[in-house]
Amino acid sequence: DTNGDRGRVHFRAYYRAGGQWRFLEEHSEFVRESGRWFYVSGETRDESFKPGRNDACLCGSGRKFKRCCG
Ligand SMILES: [Zn+2]
Repeated sequence: DTNGDRGRVHFRAYYRAGGQWRFLEEHSEFVRESGRWFYVSGETRDESFKPGRNDACLCGSGRKFKRCCG
């Protein structure tokens, strides 16, 4: 069996640029061979994002978007 161990990393980060919210998202896959992890493949997205007006604000204030950074 040469499959070894596989691992996945997923993260999503929100940030504000040019007056709009954007998010950076990455899915990466790693495989472990002989005790070391090797990067296999990955997919990165960087897109604009528009929160709903009544959603919790992305800045972490706990307020609704429309009453905070909206
Ligand atoms: Zn905010």
